[in-house]
Amino acid sequence: MAEGRPLYVTRPTLPPLQEVIPILEDLWESRILSNGGRYHQEFEAALGTYLGVEHVSLVANATLGLMLALKQCALKGQVITTPFSFVGTSHTLALSGLEPVFADIDPVTLNLDPAAVTAALTPQTSAIMPVHIFGRACDTEAFEALANAHNLRLIYDAAHAFGVRDSGGSVLRHGDMSVLSFHATKVFNTFEGGAVICRDATTKEGIDELRNFGIIDEVTVSRVGMNAKMNEFSAGLGLLQLKYIDEATERRGQADARYRDLLAQVPEVRCLPLASGQTGNKYSFPILVQPDAGFTRDALYERLRANGIYARRYFYPLISDMPMYRHLPSAQPENLPVARDIAQRILCLPLSPDLDAVEQQRIVKVIAETKTGLS
Ligand SMILES: *Cc1c(COP(=O)(O)O)cnc(C)c1O
Repeated sequence: MAEGRPLYVTRPTLPPLQEVIPILEDLWESRILSNGGRYHQEFEAALGTYLGVEHVSLVANATLGLMLALKQCALKGQVITTPFSFVGTSHTLALSGLEPVFADIDPVTLNLDPAAVTAALTPQTSAIMPVHIFGRACDTEAFEALANAHNLRLIYDAAHAFGVRDSGGSVLRHGDMSVLSFHATKVFNTFEGGAVICRDATTKEGIDELRNFGIIDEVTVSRVGMNAKMNEFSAGLGLLQLKYIDEATERRGQADARYRDLLAQVPEVRCLPLASGQTGNKYSFPILVQPDAGFTRDALYERLRANGIYARRYFYPLISDMPMYRHLPSAQPENLPVARDIAQRILCLPLSPDLDAVEQQRIVKVIAETKTGLS
């Protein structure tokens, strides 16, 4: 029998409802619901200040944000990316008429491995799209050097990287553009939403045009664009969420530390090492089931479920194993040994600002007893 409330990997964080009502009243009064109204302007500016980046363009979601970034770079041919991510990463390439080329990941950071990217370069390569997986920064220096040496564009899928900083500041400053997601399940949410962080004002202008059909003014349309605007309610909610994000991040950090303490006594699973030289957002709490654990990741997953603990197998299956990509030469198993191994052993545990110590003890107890429970 499961004790306590069911525990999910992500539990959307929301501000107090009474603070949302005035925003709704304001929107009903003004009837300005989209197209860069007051909340959009305020949130875009406040977000840049909070993140410590200069050129921010709010968008409706990260998928559209990534597509705008690709369009702005006018790419052709192949883009090297990671198979160990949410499927949306590769879909934005395919939807943009580009061929995803999968390269293997680093066994420690689980991020795209720069050496594997180098090996995957061809004359058709036009860009690299790494992901800061679980909010742990990529080897941004190596990717920058690679992009410069081979004249490639560098677009980061930063869907997990809200508020992540390295020794030089926000990790979102790296590359040509970085794209955040504010989807309900992310650490910072506006129901649906996202932002494109641009290196310079000209790039931001380009993204701003593309997100609104290429419209410049009532009589001028500069180019083919689409509708990727953030609406006024999401922007107003984002503005409110900024007030609470530091507290939420701190609580996630405390929960992360408690897991590490508790799991130190459980040799069957391993936590990812703390990312050195960065302050993160504790996007997720992934563990790896050890090869000699005596049980499989899926057995643990099922056992947790039976106890009302809904861990998730992020990211399994690999994107490269999905039907629309598995025919690609780069998707072949022998090209991606590390990603394949990790995808079989990874499990993300519930992590949210309101997860308490007793609940975490319950989760870790189930993990610790899995071996004996199965034998
Ligand atoms: C969530 C996510 C996306 C898609 O973000 P949306 O805002 O839902 O479009 C893309 N890439 C990664 C790595 C994600 O986790």
